Amino acid sequence: MTATTSGSGSPVGLRAALAQVPDYVAGRPAPVVEGLTTYKMSSNENPYPPLPSVVGVIAEAATEVNRYPDMAVTDLVQALADFIGVPHDHISTGTGSSAVLSQLINATCDEGDEVVFAWRSFELYPIATAIAGAKAVRVPLTPDHRHDLDAMAAAITDRTRLVIVCTPNNPTGTSVHRDELEAFLAKVPPSVLVVIDEAYVEFVRDPDTPDALELYRTHPNVAVLRTFSKAYGLAGLRIGYAVASSEVTAALRRTALPFGISVVAEEAAVASLAAYDELDARVTAVVAERDRVVAALTAQGWELPDSQANFVFFPLGPAGAAFEQACYDAGLVVRRHGDEGVRVTIAEPEANDRLIRVAGAFDRSSIQPG
Ligand SMILES: *Cc1c(COP(=O)(O)O)cnc(C)c1O
Repeated sequence: MTATTSGSGSPVGLRAALAQVPDYVAGRPAPVVEGLTTYKMSSNENPYPPLPSVVGVIAEAATEVNRYPDMAVTDLVQALADFIGVPHDHISTGTGSSAVLSQLINATCDEGDEVVFAWRSFELYPIATAIAGAKAVRVPLTPDHRHDLDAMAAAITDRTRLVIVCTPNNPTGTSVHRDELEAFLAKVPPSVLVVIDEAYVEFVRDPDTPDALELYRTHPNVAVLRTFSKAYGLAGLRIGYAVASSEVTAALRRTALPFGISVVAEEAAVASLAAYDELDARVTAVVAERDRVVAALTAQGWELPDSQANFVFFPLGPAGAAFEQACYDAGLVVRRHGDEGVRVTIAEPEANDRLIRVAGAFDRSSIQPG
């Protein structure tokens, strides 16, 4: 199906489906305020700079960028296979797990096929679905901001090709529980791919959270998505991966952009896996900050969803606009999700302190759930 854009005067035929693609709203940069250190708490990035050892590897890899990188990403695939204990032909990499997810949708969906996911969830899901010409089936979160897996199972039709389970969920931070995910998987037809997006898995401390890798081992229709952007602090290098059956992995390798992973990104990721203990100490520090922030906010009377990620979600409804502004005035940029609420990344302790102060001073009487 093609449509000619009118108005712009362009004669170029563009797919009609593109008109349905929502815009990606990226987290804004920190404000610039004279005399004030400002903080970006809008993109769930790691507040720590890369490890010095990783920066060294990046600098060294930079001397090789006159050459194309290794198309098979051999060193990283090998390192990941060793790190998580899965066969090489079950791992595929991409320029962020965002790219891998888009490939999964393109590999499974024809025009009009359906992709089921919770809503609110990750911004990218409706975008990648619409680009593929597929239909997004958004299943509302429960009142306590968790995936409604029963409703998601009920939303599966014979057009459904893919279901996404985002755990912990971006932006609400809640994780699904083991028993409910197992019960859900038992209801999903084996021809439907279930993508478990674990972008924040390293920050999870709830013992009731499922081991997605174990589920991929027992269910050939499960694919696990992970990224180096969050816990590993390599968001700017664009690197993520999927763990899936060899059939799904072969489809991912076929749909990958050739040479998408630069030598710089690959070597940085390999070095980060080797330095995981050091990175894990930082993850532990972020989790401790999350717990500290949540405890302080709870003491102020806030009732927030249980976050297992490196951010917290304020279910403010339309009052989110005033909260976002109050944060901004204090030098903090946060991420508002429409009239549902505001997501704030756990950042440097000073930024977190300031968030606690802003939240404590905020007039909560105007809050209605969005
Ligand atoms: C950040 C994020 C990703 C990963 O993004 P990339 O940088 O493309 O790897 C994937 N899923 C969710 C839910 C995220 O929040």
